[in-house]
Amino acid sequence: MTADKNKQFITFCGNSIKVPNNPNIPFIQGDGIGPDIWQASVKVFNAAVKKAYKGKREIQWQEVYAGEKAYNKFGEWLPQDTIDAFKKYIVGIKGPLTTPVGGGIRSLNVALRKSLDLYACIRPIKWFLGVPSPVKQPQDLNVVIFRENTEGIYTGIEFENGTADTEQLKDILRELFPNEFAKMRFPDSSGFSLKLISREGTERIMRAAINYAIKNNRKTITIVHKGNIMKFTDGAFCKWAYNLAEREFSNKVYTRNQWNRTKTEKSVDAANEEQELSLKAGELLIKDVIADIAFQQTLTRPKDFDVIVTTNLNGDYLSDALAAQVGGVGISPGGNINFETGMAIFEACHGTAPKYANKNVVNPSSLILSGELMLRYLGWDQAADLIIKGLGGAIKSKKVTYDFHRLMDNGIKVTTNEFGDEVINNM
Ligand code: NAP
Repeated sequence: MTADKNKQFITFCGNSIKVPNNPNIPFIQGDGIGPDIWQASVKVFNAAVKKAYKGKREIQWQEVYAGEKAYNKFGEWLPQDTIDAFKKYIVGIKGPLTTPVGGGIRSLNVALRKSLDLYACIRPIKWFLGVPSPVKQPQDLNVVIFRENTEGIYTGIEFENGTADTEQLKDILRELFPNEFAKMRFPDSSGFSLKLISREGTERIMRAAINYAIKNNRKTITIVHKGNIMKFTDGAFCKWAYNLAEREFSNKVYTRNQWNRTKTEKSVDAANEEQELSLKAGELLIKDVIADIAFQQTLTRPKDFDVIVTTNLNGDYLSDALAAQVGGVGISPGGNINFETGMAIFEACHGTAPKYANKNVVNPSSLILSGELMLRYLGWDQAADLIIKGLGGAIKSKKVTYDFHRLMDNGIKVTTNEFGDEVINNM
């Protein structure tokens, strides 16, 4: 209580956050390469804020624990104190956390997002001049992915093959839904996962995407789904997303609903849709595409995509696939936000890359840009702009970490820490 007296809290009133000049912000360093990228990034954040506001504003960083560090310190992977701290301080940032495959602890990231109901995972993906890319025109891709973060196949409701619960579930299915049970190819050796997609869950992510698109003068939203196969989950996601747009934003959106062609279909070249409709400022075209072809078209016709809204697993795959076009996960930021409570955790999008841990070699750009997103969320745009300027300058000067260096002609290889200094030098 006494300690809290000296702290400044971000608050959420109505529909926006209120940020004091010296907010307390919790951070998790993360596992593996987490400490390496945190050391390089935090000095960039502090330098940007100092330069932008000349000492009038300063972040009070507060370390909280999760992952291996928490386990070693407290015997718990995700202590309740950490969840409570994010609730109390509203906005936070984190590095990557380890998740074992096929057993052991469940994903700490998923647990954190679920306990704070951070339903919108936002991943802006755009190219910085000079970043090595596997495509010819990486500048053509400039998208923001809104991935639904709490539902889909990530609900964590899973039944392991061979357990009593799974046998019971199978008995129920066999008895009550014999036709569905008959569709199972190898029921005796199957594990089960429940995929849930709700109307409320769909509507809130779609609403967030539309509000973002209008505020940031984006022109189209593409709903990416597998509704042709999974009609009552992905198909419903697509339908509910269109319905929400037509109901709540009717004076701002045009819809090209391929599931309801009679209503809006025009025979126009997809690449010229916006021009064809002569969208005015603040107006949006909403369309949809099936997930598999989305992976092709984001590569072959990247300019067709602007804001993408999609389900949890589709969004997970698509985010990393698109990040590859602009330089990889090492330079791809993310934020997890609940727009109804204001709570947000910004995070590096890559994993813990254990083979590089404590070597001071990896690229800190993903976390640096996640901090940039965080500063923009706080409304500290001048500091955020300085980070973009600094990062762009550092890359242009070709002083880069190993991942870019190995793909660049005449690059100068620098450490994680030195790259942070380069960003600061170029602000
Ligand atoms: P990863 O840690 O992202 O590493 C895969 C590869 O990506 C690395 O070997 C490296 O490629 C490249 N890479 C990742 N971060 C980089 C950086 N900062 N700079 C340059 N290159 C970078 O993925 P993973 O090996 O699949 O996962 C390892 C662990 O991380 C798992 O436990 C997983 O569950 C966890 N994970 C956590 C999060 C999260 O906390 N949000 C996200 C994803 C995965 P090269 O080998 O080619 O250099």
